[in-house]
Amino acid sequence: MSGNKTFTMIKPDAVAEGHTGAILKMIEEAGFRVVAMKKTQLTPERAGQFYAVHKERPFYNDLCDYMSSGAIVPMILEKENAVTDFRTLIGATNPANADEGTIRKLFAKSIEANAIHGSDSDENASIEGSFFFASTEQY
Ligand code: ATP
Ligand code: MG
Repeated sequence: MSGNKTFTMIKPDAVAEGHTGAILKMIEEAGFRVVAMKKTQLTPERAGQFYAVHKERPFYNDLCDYMSSGAIVPMILEKENAVTDFRTLIGATNPANADEGTIRKLFAKSIEANAIHGSDSDENASIEGSFFFASTEQY
């Protein structure tokens, strides 16, 4: 059975361009409840830990530099089938392949500066949520 929580972060390109409010509106209108949210910035080291699964990939260093280049807005979200439904809402990794009306189609600039992250499994949603929020910050 799929779980009811996922983790997301609005990435530096979208925050810097002032899209936080518009993206949050889309998330809430799609039926997700914000359980925890803050504005923060990753160091390159912390970005590297978050994306450690990609450390052998050629884009890893650029990804860590980019993800630590400005403020981000991490959130824990709640909804039935949260992980799957949220991946549908954000669209494909490369905005060129993202469906019309998805967050990445509307706001992402490139495959790297792609506006938003969404966890890819219930297990990773839990791990990633704990990376940013203490359990006492979750309501
Ligand atoms: P995310 O984990 O950020 O939600 P995703 O699950 O759609 O994205 P992943 O395969 O997990 O995609 O890749 C993580 C991130 O690494 C992508 O969001 C993107 O910013 C970057 N990335 C992935 N593939 C490439 C690539 N070929 N070139 C450059 N950057 C890439
Ligand atoms: Mg991913």
